Amino acid sequence: MQGLADSHGRRFRYLRLSVTDACNFRCVYCLPNGYRKPAGAQAPLGVSEIRNLVSGFAAMGFWKVRLTGGEPTLRRDIVEIAHEISSIPGIRKVALTTNGYRLAQLAGPLRAAGVNALNVSIDSLNAERFRKITGQNRLHDVLKGIDAAFSSGFSAIKVNAVLMKGHNDLDLDSYLEWIRRAPISVRFIELMRTGDNRKLFEGRHLSAGTIQLKLLASGWSMRHRSEGDGPAVEFEHPEYVGRIGLIAPYSRDFCRSCNRLRVSSQGDLRLCLFGEEGHPLRHLLRFEHQRDELIAAVRELIGEKAAAHYLHDGKYGNTQDFAAIGG
Ligand code: SAM
Ligand code: SF4
Repeated sequence: MQGLADSHGRRFRYLRLSVTDACNFRCVYCLPNGYRKPAGAQAPLGVSEIRNLVSGFAAMGFWKVRLTGGEPTLRRDIVEIAHEISSIPGIRKVALTTNGYRLAQLAGPLRAAGVNALNVSIDSLNAERFRKITGQNRLHDVLKGIDAAFSSGFSAIKVNAVLMKGHNDLDLDSYLEWIRRAPISVRFIELMRTGDNRKLFEGRHLSAGTIQLKLLASGWSMRHRSEGDGPAVEFEHPEYVGRIGLIAPYSRDFCRSCNRLRVSSQGDLRLCLFGEEGHPLRHLLRFEHQRDELIAAVRELIGEKAAAHYLHDGKYGNTQDFAAIGG
């Protein structure tokens, strides 16, 4: 079957699936007041709906799926979900993005269920700053989770840190010291403006370019991208085992290499993280035999994908926070 491409010549093979909107952290840029279930919210997609969804995308050539949220490990059936997805023919990579709070217990079962890539969010390596940013005094537990992940056979782990002026830009040296010997890729993500974080964005946003200049000045060099890569530009250094990645959605060419689509925990297709609305697919996920209909719907919707987001114009779609669609 033909792969999926849009009218701007971009091919899509990477699905980011939010499995829940709920989260137990209160990150200042995402859910500063904690998660509250919206009145009348439906249950998130069940395991069989997820299987039907991913099978449909796999039939269009998708080979990478990232499980995200909210906090995906809040779902009691996360291991079963991972197992279902990794058993679908054509799916070669199953990744999980997590705040790491249950990773120490779950790393082994997730690995056994076929998860082969892990992103753990650690916004500071300083315990007090970590607590201030996430609302949880859990740095120690999250670091134990990373040890457990290495012991369970995860070979390369990515750590996400949202760049914030006066917070984790002060930690750059500790991240570098950490990855001198550890095969970890630390991804600094530029803080993105959402409906809920205007004040924080205005006070704390820091361009990834400032980190890039520091890296280039101290012997780091840029690596080439390969297919299926996420949005990070990666840097390496001969004296460091780990790498640094920079994710700069405000940079000029960010959207040109877009290779991913998102589905929310309620089964809405989001063509762009900053798109205006979701397109419901849930009614096409009840039965296996609806696959052709699902594929036809996605093929039609991809025609609506815009060439780029309009963040530079101060527009951020109707995204209140990223917990709802997985960041
Ligand atoms: N709860 C999991 C976690 O935090 O890793 C998965 C979901 S979270 C929404 C996915 C990623 O989006 C995290 O790395 C988080 O730091 C990032 N994120 C959330 N809000 C953001 C924002 N406003 N700007 C940049 N990154 C953001
Ligand atoms: Fe939760 Fe992740 Fe959002 Fe933090 S970034 S509040 S851990 S969903």
